[in-house]
Amino acid sequence: MTLAPYAASDKTSRGRRYQETAPAYRGEYQRDRDRIIHCAAFRRLEYKTQVFVNHEGDLFRTRLTHSIEVAQIGRSIARALGLNEDLTEAIALAHDLGHTPFGHSGQEALNQCMRDHGGFEHNLQSLRVVEVLEERYAEFPGLNLTYETREGILKHCSLKKAAELGELGRRFLEKKQPGLEAQLVNLADEIAYNNHDVDDGLRSGLLGIDQLCNVALFSEQYLNVERTYPRLTPRRRIYETVRRMINRVVTDVIETSRRLLTESGVQHIDEVRNHPGQLITYSEEIRHETNGLKKFLRNNLYTHEKVSRMSNEAVKIVQELFAVFMQDPRLLPAQYQDKIKDSGAGAKADGSTPGKARIIADYIAGMTDRYAIREHARLCRARETA
Ligand code: MG
Repeated sequence: MTLAPYAASDKTSRGRRYQETAPAYRGEYQRDRDRIIHCAAFRRLEYKTQVFVNHEGDLFRTRLTHSIEVAQIGRSIARALGLNEDLTEAIALAHDLGHTPFGHSGQEALNQCMRDHGGFEHNLQSLRVVEVLEERYAEFPGLNLTYETREGILKHCSLKKAAELGELGRRFLEKKQPGLEAQLVNLADEIAYNNHDVDDGLRSGLLGIDQLCNVALFSEQYLNVERTYPRLTPRRRIYETVRRMINRVVTDVIETSRRLLTESGVQHIDEVRNHPGQLITYSEEIRHETNGLKKFLRNNLYTHEKVSRMSNEAVKIVQELFAVFMQDPRLLPAQYQDKIKDSGAGAKADGSTPGKARIIADYIAGMTDRYAIREHARLCRARETA
């Protein structure tokens, strides 16, 4: 398959931090993807919450199935636009590696715990996982991924952090764009979670069809399906609706972006980076409808009483684990205790030389939901009753 001139490619890549010989039978971005799939943080995504805690039901999305859906949507769009599918897949599979257990509430809680120690941002943590925390290769720390994959993983970051990041942070300070594959995964992420949260929300019973029929993106497809197939079972009607919703938005992104790419005249990834706006995007109409759906999910699912109850429990688990390890680091696994000893007095709050708090945050962020629950029961409940 031929790449468009504005796609990322091995030839225009800014390369890896530690030089390596080119792979013999793979491209550079294939190698990135393969390294991501083999890393421990990737396997843990299976037991991390997307919205519903992992053990609440076997059919709900986890961060792993979410990441695979993002890769699928991303690759379809990449192929249609002549973009680099391997890079798209690598970014998609890595984009959530830095997530804490228990989804958004876990991350908020850890950020609170870290407020005097440089804070906690999951995007930065995803980068930290691939740059530092995965220790698998003899010749370099982390996974030594290409610049373009790391550029895509870091989709947001505060300006303060950007200033500390060097080359990778510069685009946030200079208000420049990342490559098209990075822009694309950002949208694919949103398309995946908006749609699978509708599906999971309905399955869990926290959302109802009547409510959703007030959301344009849903009702348009749902009513169409009902009209065309009046005898379908309710579950099949929902699946058919969700697949049409994804198709509608994906088609829109392909057509809108194709038009923008032609109009912009960009011919090289560096021209994409210097272009004043994003070139992979929705039409105005779909952006408006997508925002409507996001608002609906925020008001009706993410803040639903049942989800909030789980969130409060998650916050408590993360906070208490953090407190217990800060107070007595001897409760940490040996390799984390060693890291704290090695860091000594040179620790900096920004994590460049990690101190005790950062090392504890790394440990907690790496936990799966069930591991955090178990550790909390072992270390914190025992103390309550002692
Ligand atoms: Mg995501």
